Amino acid sequence: MKLFEHEGKSLFADFGIPIPRGRTVDRLEEVLSAARDVAPEVVVKAQVHAGGRGKAGGVRLARNGEEAVALAGEIMGMDIQGCSVERLLLEEALDIEKEFYLSVILNAGKDNFMLMFSSFGGMDVEDLAHDPGKGIMCFEIEDLSSLHEYEIRNFLRESGLSGKTLSGVSSVAFRLCRCFRARDLTLAEINPLVITREGDILAADAKVEVDDNSLFRQKDLQALPPEVSDPFEKRAAEIGISYVQMDGDVGIIASGAGLAMNTMDILESKGARAANFLETGGGITRELIANSVELLFSNPAVKGVVVNLYGGVNPMLAAANGVVDGLRSHTRSIPIVVKLLGNQQEEAWRILDEARILTVKSVHTEKAVTMLLEKMEGGEDEL
Ligand code: GDP
Ligand code: MN
Repeated sequence: MKLFEHEGKSLFADFGIPIPRGRTVDRLEEVLSAARDVAPEVVVKAQVHAGGRGKAGGVRLARNGEEAVALAGEIMGMDIQGCSVERLLLEEALDIEKEFYLSVILNAGKDNFMLMFSSFGGMDVEDLAHDPGKGIMCFEIEDLSSLHEYEIRNFLRESGLSGKTLSGVSSVAFRLCRCFRARDLTLAEINPLVITREGDILAADAKVEVDDNSLFRQKDLQALPPEVSDPFEKRAAEIGISYVQMDGDVGIIASGAGLAMNTMDILESKGARAANFLETGGGITRELIANSVELLFSNPAVKGVVVNLYGGVNPMLAAANGVVDGLRSHTRSIPIVVKLLGNQQEEAWRILDEARILTVKSVHTEKAVTMLLEKMEGGEDEL
């Protein structure tokens, strides 16, 4: 589970890592008083689960409260890598002398942890990794619980840090490791870790991911509202289906995860790409299927839909009626092919035939996919 920057920072602060003064706002009307409360000059920061906010214009410096209001107006509602900005963090502007990169990750491949540091923070970690001159130094840690601060200091000394900076950064790194272990994190990244002109060290950014399997013992984190800012994923959560937005143009509705993935594989093997993953689970109702069809049709990127249903516990007659309902409520005429088998299949097929919906009445998903792709090449379908 990803945390917002301000949530990550508050975890850091619990472990004594200095963070800038700041406040979050969800409404533009609150910006002026919040900004004045924080500092004369503030940085207005979009709170989304996406990196690269700075480059996207989601991190802006305001010289006074009025400017903060204006910038907040620009940033609120912005789309950053598919995440819509619904919350802002207003933070005291830092007088930055130097930016470092510091992170701890779970290194599952090697069954250990890794502390990473670079004295060229602020930029994309990918860029850092590809530039040997600015390379990230890595320190592998077998056991976070027996880690000593001096071990970190010895590691960081090799990067050329010394004196107060060395001890300051070491202290932050040590606290980051403690936070990582105590809160069951899989990623804790501070980029940039800032040294101000006054010599203070602060975490100016926070990227934190919590191990989902540990949420049962991180109750406060479990209780945080998840960010679902993709409008389709938001709607899918309301409908009650498992849904992941993807970047292809073939919409998929499947009654099981395996069936959905198999459908995606077959699409892929034919050079097509899924627009989504959608699994209904075992609770199919007429309404649920109608809503799912409507959801896919409301996505302009979707140019065709394949419905792949198997009725073991799921009622296929309700499913067929749901498909018809869903299509009826839409004006877009893109091709749709339904593959449907299982209980009440004859009744279901009759409903689909009457509605003149292309239906595959055998186990061959490949057939349904091929039919759909041919239709899609042929252009618009008639409803
Ligand atoms: P990201 O782009 O999503 O990683 O967002 P960051 O929080 O890392 O902000 C991007 C960049 O904005 C940082 O690398 C800093 O250079 C700059 N920045 C962030 N906070 C401040 C600040 O308080 N003062 C100044 N001058 N720059 C800041
Ligand atoms: Mn950053």
